[in-house]
Amino acid sequence: KRQEVPASVHGIDPALVDERAKNVVTTLQSAGYEAYVVGGAVRDLLLGLRPKDFDVATNATPEQVKSLFRRAFIIGRRFRIVHVVYGRGREHEVIEVSTFRAYMDNAAAEQVKGNERTSKGELAGMTHAVDSTGRVLRDNVWGPQEEDAARRDFTVNAMYYDPASGIVVDYHNGIKDAKKLVLRMIGDPITRYREDPVRIIRAIRFSAKLAALGFEIEPKTAAPLIASSKLLADVPQSRLFDEMLKLLQTGHAVATIAQLRKLGLATGIYPLLDVVVERAEQPFVKAALVDTDRRVGEGKPVAPSFLLACVLWADVRDGWAQRLEGRHGQRGQPAFPALQDAIDDVFNTRIGDVSGRGKLGGDMREIWMMQPRFDKRVGSTPYSLVEQARFRAAFDFMRLRADVGEVSEAIAEWWQEFSTADDLRRQDLLDQVR
Ligand code: ATP
Ligand code: MG
Repeated sequence: KRQEVPASVHGIDPALVDERAKNVVTTLQSAGYEAYVVGGAVRDLLLGLRPKDFDVATNATPEQVKSLFRRAFIIGRRFRIVHVVYGRGREHEVIEVSTFRAYMDNAAAEQVKGNERTSKGELAGMTHAVDSTGRVLRDNVWGPQEEDAARRDFTVNAMYYDPASGIVVDYHNGIKDAKKLVLRMIGDPITRYREDPVRIIRAIRFSAKLAALGFEIEPKTAAPLIASSKLLADVPQSRLFDEMLKLLQTGHAVATIAQLRKLGLATGIYPLLDVVVERAEQPFVKAALVDTDRRVGEGKPVAPSFLLACVLWADVRDGWAQRLEGRHGQRGQPAFPALQDAIDDVFNTRIGDVSGRGKLGGDMREIWMMQPRFDKRVGSTPYSLVEQARFRAAFDFMRLRADVGEVSEAIAEWWQEFSTADDLRRQDLLDQVR
């Protein structure tokens, strides 16, 4: 069952392995523990991609890991993992180190997380795992590497790479599947989706990401997706929201939408995602999705507020226009309150109660509220606008509106120049408008 595959067979290029991740692994090994690079990083290495982050798995407990590094922090209450931090400020890098865990604790504990109601079966599963396997520390159920592999989702996500020896440890034929370009769920897919329905969304995410390489979802893994998707109703909204953002913000948004349609999941994953898929062909939304993928591909940061502001702009714009005109024989509202009301309305109907999203909502509101100010190219208004913290995002948003003909190209170019010009040139630009 356990296969140890040497570099001559799997062909991983050691140059793609992050130095810090290597350092974490060798430090743990020198202290007498087992340690490997694990999960998505091994998958990407095998496929010749440069992993965007590196996770390490070990048989050392979080306390033992922490004691070996100068800057290491134990994170999380239920799943305690260690963040080993290198460098400072913008350049800093975090290697996530998790202790091998027993099968069952993951899904069962996920169900318990956030005080979700848990069926008897799932609780019994956890109790069983607690009774039969090793140590229990604050809901973390440690287990042997073999179980740590079995609790993972896809065969290509369940391999362990030892950079010192170059060996890949593979329990589920992940290397074979990577060669055959197959995304296959470990174990019985129906059971695994039931344990944790978020795996449905992960199946979509990885199949979209890997589609460009020619990957396909294995038929048995794909077959239960639609029927299982109703289980997503029991997943906390905040977790679904986060997973939705991962679908849209990891550089494969366009491919994800194609994949959702292909798999018959164009609706039903999450209400806001339904809207994205429905509008994906609208020029403005399409431009935003393509732009997001391009930015991620170039290693630039992307903000969820920007993309969601784009997706919901049609509602804001229409609601705003209606309020300006006035309804039911009433007179129209002035521009700013009308926009404010339209935005409130969109938050109420489309975003709902995703708690802890204060900043995201605030940023979306600012991007929208700044749009009418781009029409005011007189006096001190332009000066104060370019000083706003969210000016860049609001400008990029307006730039996209110009790309689809909603704002004149001349105005977009004027702001582009004004925002980068010196004071003298700015005065020129203001004089031009008069
Ligand atoms: P990415 O490149 O997008 O980060 P990843 O495979 O590293 O992809 P993560 O969400 O970072 O994905 O998770 C790390 C690893 O943890 C996965 O490769 C998988 O082995 C395991 N894992 C994560 N979430 C689940 C889950 N819901 N069920 C089972 N295993 C999971
Ligand atoms: Mg990862």
